[in-house]
Amino acid sequence: MNWEIPLFEPDLGEAELEAVAQVVRSKWLTMGGRTAQFESEFASLVGCQHAVALNSCTAALHVALLALDVGPGDEVICPALTFVATANAIRYCGARPVFADVDSLECWNVSRASLEAVATPNTKAVMVVHYGGYPCAMPEILAFAKTRGLSVVEDAAHAPGATVDGRPLGGWGDVGCFSFFSNKNMTTGEGGMLTTNRYDVADRASRLRSHGMTTLTLDRYKGHAFSYDVVDLGYNYRMSELNAALGMAQLPMLSARNRRRAELVQRYRTNLRSAPGLSIPFGRPVGDPAYHLFVALLGEGIERSEVMTAMKTAGIQTSIHYRPVDTFTSYRRAGLGPSDRLTLTHAIGDRVLTLPLYPSMTDSQVDRVCEILIRSIAAATVA
Ligand SMILES: *Cc1c(COP(=O)(O)O)cnc(C)c1O
Repeated sequence: MNWEIPLFEPDLGEAELEAVAQVVRSKWLTMGGRTAQFESEFASLVGCQHAVALNSCTAALHVALLALDVGPGDEVICPALTFVATANAIRYCGARPVFADVDSLECWNVSRASLEAVATPNTKAVMVVHYGGYPCAMPEILAFAKTRGLSVVEDAAHAPGATVDGRPLGGWGDVGCFSFFSNKNMTTGEGGMLTTNRYDVADRASRLRSHGMTTLTLDRYKGHAFSYDVVDLGYNYRMSELNAALGMAQLPMLSARNRRRAELVQRYRTNLRSAPGLSIPFGRPVGDPAYHLFVALLGEGIERSEVMTAMKTAGIQTSIHYRPVDTFTSYRRAGLGPSDRLTLTHAIGDRVLTLPLYPSMTDSQVDRVCEILIRSIAAATVA
């Protein structure tokens, strides 16, 4: 399919090409100086003492929970309106994901109240997701976690560069997890980052990333160490130098690109302000968002698949973020869903429509999407 306007488009250019070429010329392809430098620069962005680079955000979520001693018998609260990896990471640890509903049809994040509603004596941690790059109300959520002695993991896959009260997301909880998958606000192809101010968590996460080994290949190469022990059942979750080089080339562009996303979202909002048959959530966001997704909530009774088909015919790619995790077969088979408590989450899952958003999108492309959307909704309403 050759889209006139795709859902997303990564921004890649000469800087990325040169960065990758330098790695190839250096002949050191994994876990070297570039990864260390990328970690240090990303830690500064998030205002954290430690950053651990991994080969995905999924890996970051997994080792974050392990480093917080989440295991069998524990419950971890998370939203169901998220990418499946959030909840899968909980299941990898043998723990049980317990789904909290979103705050409202206006704010699609979990809230203190929605977390409180599903907490039990077995709750060990909460894993919040900053949906679409819109920050969760972190001060209230941290206050709640503190009263119950719960750890907090932020799935900040959508939110690099977003802040609450001037403080970056991924630096509020015990651990922050970021994704550099191709469609995220910054990309390394595949990749992830774990951020934390806790030395114990960073130390354990670095070992789990590399088979639970006590020394690194680079240390042995440099002659700092001859042998190693294995002290944890670890994984191979390492980031390659090629990915780290891409990440370093992308990092300086992140804030300008997030600002451009904000402008495009503003234009969408203005264009769609009085459009019939839809509403736009997050009208008054918490903090300063990263604007990863632009989503609309279609009116009840509008046939979403008809709208999507009409837009596809006009060359415009749309998507659904997300089908709620508790409705998937794997979750049903494991006795984890579907949950009839999640009324708002399920209403959103049935009616959400994701529209194109990426920094190189033009104002006239936004106008075109809105024009086609309004026409497609009118057609789907009459039918
Ligand atoms: C993309 C995404 C992930 C997974 O990231 P990967 O780097 O692809 O593993 C996790 N959570 C959310 C909310 C995501 O959007």
